[in-house]
Amino acid sequence: MKALVIGGGIAGPVTALALKKAGIEAAVFEAYDAAADGVGGVLNVAPNGLAALRIVGLETDFGEPVRRMVLADNRGRELGRVEGDPSRVVWRADLYRRLRDLTTAQRIKVEHGKRLVDVETHDNGVTATFADGSTESGDLLVGADGIRSAVRTIIDPAAPGPEYAGLLGFGSYASQSGVHGDPETMYFVFGSSFLGYWAQPDGTIAWFNNLAVPEPMTAAEMAEIPTETWLARLREAYGDDMPAKRLLAHSDTLIGVGPLEMMPSVPRWHRDRMVLVGDSAHAPSSSSGQGASLAAESAVQLARCLRDIRDIPTAFATYEQLRRPRVEGIAARAARTNSNKRGIGPITRLLMPLVMKTVGRKAFTRDQNHRIDWDAQVSR
Ligand SMILES: Cc1cc2nc3c(=O)[nH]c(=O)nc-3n(C[C@H](O)[C@H](O)[C@H](O)COP(=O)(O)OP(=O)(O)OC[C@H]3O[C@@H](n4cnc5c(N)ncnc54)[C@H](O)[C@@H]3O)c2cc1C
Repeated sequence: MKALVIGGGIAGPVTALALKKAGIEAAVFEAYDAAADGVGGVLNVAPNGLAALRIVGLETDFGEPVRRMVLADNRGRELGRVEGDPSRVVWRADLYRRLRDLTTAQRIKVEHGKRLVDVETHDNGVTATFADGSTESGDLLVGADGIRSAVRTIIDPAAPGPEYAGLLGFGSYASQSGVHGDPETMYFVFGSSFLGYWAQPDGTIAWFNNLAVPEPMTAAEMAEIPTETWLARLREAYGDDMPAKRLLAHSDTLIGVGPLEMMPSVPRWHRDRMVLVGDSAHAPSSSSGQGASLAAESAVQLARCLRDIRDIPTAFATYEQLRRPRVEGIAARAARTNSNKRGIGPITRLLMPLVMKTVGRKAFTRDQNHRIDWDAQVSR
């Protein structure tokens, strides 16, 4: 069996590696001409995602470990905390490079400059057509082509697309700011607007935040506005909030990460010999910290289903049954976090410690403790 994997981001290479482990040949086709070195901001990979990546043979000592999350208000008062197995925060480009090295080592073909434009399905296979006019045939096709997936629309022309959550994301570093953080701890501050930060081993404070902006902008459009203009706007938005005020006063650079987007539930994950994996099927907003992790889990589960169930449509349906409740539960929780990220009111602030102690902590732990048993046989 041969799989055509469309998209060479995170889900694509993990799918190809998992399929190879399942004994299925896979080739990856990526739209961009060049590899994505140096592209993107920081990603969180949660313990469940790290476990999925280890299944496909990736060493997961990348980035920095984060063992606890502390929620605070804008005066530095702790509202709650959750501790567990470490997640890792990593530059997307570093994770991407590791995956690329592993696919190369395993002799998985990754072709660049192959933007999928059409798919034809036959009784016994699929043929993909790319923008350069070339075609490729296989037994099945996996759409790992991200939140603006072309495969999703080919499967279902009425499929929904991403929706702007009304927030733009930024990230930067502050040195000599006088702000401290415990090691391996990520702080989430709910003040005038949301801000997260952690202390890096070199003493600088890395931070990321969201700013309410009515019209969406891409990362490229954000980059056209001078850093000083954005910094001035952020300083005004945060006012005297701590530690935002100090961090913004000691940051000279800024990365505009792009818009926060929510992906509505995708009604069709598969049709005939085509199936979706990763953000194309389920992109929880980045506030879940689970985008890359869920993509890795889905890649592994899809490969298990294809390994154990010979009939392709049945394998796809089983994969969807295994994945949909989990990913949609996490997406719904992320949507609630986004509404908090515009800043929380006094009542929510008061209730936050209680919510964290009960519902929040339980859901968070359940999300992170999820593990896939690769060796277990998948039953229909
Ligand atoms: C450039 C970039 C930067 C990102 N930066 C961040 C970040 O800073 N923080 C964060 O939390 N998440 C970021 N993400 C999203 C994050 O990578 C995903 O949420 C997560 O890892 C799931 O990965 P995915 O492979 O499903 O999707 P993606 O990582 O989006 O990968 C999809 C891939 O498919 C390719 N593609 C799209 N259309 C086609 C087509 N028609 N034919 C062939 N290939 C196609 C894209 O070029 C891309 O390489 C970024 C994504 C991209 C593409």
